[in-house]
Amino acid sequence: MLTIKDLIQDPDTQKKYDDIKNMAGLKGMRSSIYDVNNSCNLRCKGCFYFSSDQHKVDDEKDLGKLKAFIEKEKERGVNYAILIGGEPSLSLDRLDVWYANIKCSSATNGVKKISRERFPSMRVGISLWGDEEYEKELRGINTFKISRDNYRDDPNVYYLYTITPRSIDQIPTVTQKIEDAGLRVHYQLFSNDQHVSGFDWSDADYQRVRDVMDEQLELRPQVVVSSKYYHQVLTTQTLLGRPFGWMECPSVSQAVDDRQPQPKRLAGFNSFASDLATIHRCCTSVTRDCATCHDGAATMSWIMVNKRDHMQSPTDFANWVDVTHMFAKLYEYVPW
Ligand code: SF4
Ligand code: SF4
Repeated sequence: MLTIKDLIQDPDTQKKYDDIKNMAGLKGMRSSIYDVNNSCNLRCKGCFYFSSDQHKVDDEKDLGKLKAFIEKEKERGVNYAILIGGEPSLSLDRLDVWYANIKCSSATNGVKKISRERFPSMRVGISLWGDEEYEKELRGINTFKISRDNYRDDPNVYYLYTITPRSIDQIPTVTQKIEDAGLRVHYQLFSNDQHVSGFDWSDADYQRVRDVMDEQLELRPQVVVSSKYYHQVLTTQTLLGRPFGWMECPSVSQAVDDRQPQPKRLAGFNSFASDLATIHRCCTSVTRDCATCHDGAATMSWIMVNKRDHMQSPTDFANWVDVTHMFAKLYEYVPW
């Protein structure tokens, strides 16, 4: 059995390991996901939120009940709330309650600005599908320009950029525009939930997108929040020879997780609907086929929870540290 001392053989890995070791603290990373509301000001093509009817739950509007719910979640051990939607920027009164009571970040489509005066230190992740024309095609308006203007030079904002097999060539230009706007980006790959023709990934697409993501990470390490190992796992859908899928996924809600044997998973993770009672199957949608799921957070988490399997060689361990450090940066456990 190799020790940590044997496994860490370069200063970069040592520094990142020290960061995440310190961060692990008493309870480590304990996040869960919450739908803030059940409405949105856009209707993007391919949106799983609406196509899987996640909006058809009652929407809990009582702020007192929300505060009590957050307290119960903290008692459950959650120390970071990932707020998604619907569209959180449409329910600022609810964001106020989240922000005042637990460390949290908010997703948004970026069209309506989440005010920095009101939420000075909230991490904001803007969903992005591609360059201006592509955004118009998929979302009806040029949200990329609007969101860049809304959040220019904000040090606590990043784009969550979902790349499709048809948008690979846009990656350099889009990333350059994000850099020019003084913002950051994290990549993930499109999952073709609705089996739209032409949007399935081929082996050649996987190789190409991996090369381009790697290249951008090398060119712009301060802008691209990522890791080559994450790109590798994302584009091969395998981890140390094991294929991704339902029996490996770490991001299944604990409340509904009856898998046997239990795989390594995120401790205490649940994904709540906006009624604060319904629990989604996982961090995406129940209609998604696990065999073709490319969810970025599930992929990062998959690597992260399988620490022990990465302790067989210094290279594997450096890869594990790199991805865990990236996850910790995105979710504010360490500064970026
Ligand atoms: S902004 Fe998000 S929630 Fe709204 S329609 Fe688009 S993908 Fe769906
Ligand atoms: S759809 Fe993706 S995130 Fe959800 S359970 Fe399946 S593999 Fe996990």
